[in-house]
Amino acid sequence: MNILIFLGPAGSGKGTQAQYLKEQFQFAHLSTGDLLRAEVASNSALGQKVKSVIQSGDLVSDDIIIEIIKDRVSSLIKNGDFNGIVFDGFPRTLQQAKSFDHMLTSLNLQLNKAIYFDLTLDESIRRISGRQIDSRNNHVYHKISNPAPADVQPHLVSRNDDEPEKVKHRYMVYQNETEPLISHYDSKLVRIDCMKSIDHIHHTFDDLVQSFQVSA
Ligand code: ADP
Repeated sequence: MNILIFLGPAGSGKGTQAQYLKEQFQFAHLSTGDLLRAEVASNSALGQKVKSVIQSGDLVSDDIIIEIIKDRVSSLIKNGDFNGIVFDGFPRTLQQAKSFDHMLTSLNLQLNKAIYFDLTLDESIRRISGRQIDSRNNHVYHKISNPAPADVQPHLVSRNDDEPEKVKHRYMVYQNETEPLISHYDSKLVRIDCMKSIDHIHHTFDDLVQSFQVSA
């Protein structure tokens, strides 16, 4: 089973590329942000607990996140009919990364690559200010650079943590908490220049997945 993690700030295209891996190569897409927003939307006990943290742009506690991941990974592995798992937005702290290392070892799995989506703060703000999401399936679009087709338009929503001030805050949290993971994953790291086009980055993933299949 192939295991990829996606590290990168808001707007760097993690969700867009995870969707591509799902559609093109039958990877499971596990986004902690999507899982948490679903809890908030359903008004579950967990959702009520994390709602204000998400809105402020801070991180949900490591314990909660690790619990969610363990849960999802074991149900994915039980029902699994896919080529791998993309972890989008996890791990996001050194503690999460260390727990994840243990989790993989205990499941007899190995990380293939940690993908580092490199993007500046200014570009993060520019992109997020045009971000739109299909409320039915979480597909991500951008008003200008990746507009949704006409039939999807009525279903588009914006996230309430996507205001510029909150994006700035999330970027700072990312620099403090998540960037240190770049050296943690040193030998497995693949850097993506997120100023390249979506298609160009798709091709990078085509080559990467090809190399997994060859070496599998
Ligand atoms: P982004 O657009 O910043 O990549 P996500 O959709 O991945 O956002 O996450 C939205 C919010 O959910 C984060 O700002 C944070 O509050 C919470 N969250 C998501 N993943 C994690 C995680 N691994 N650890 C802690 N909090 C998380």
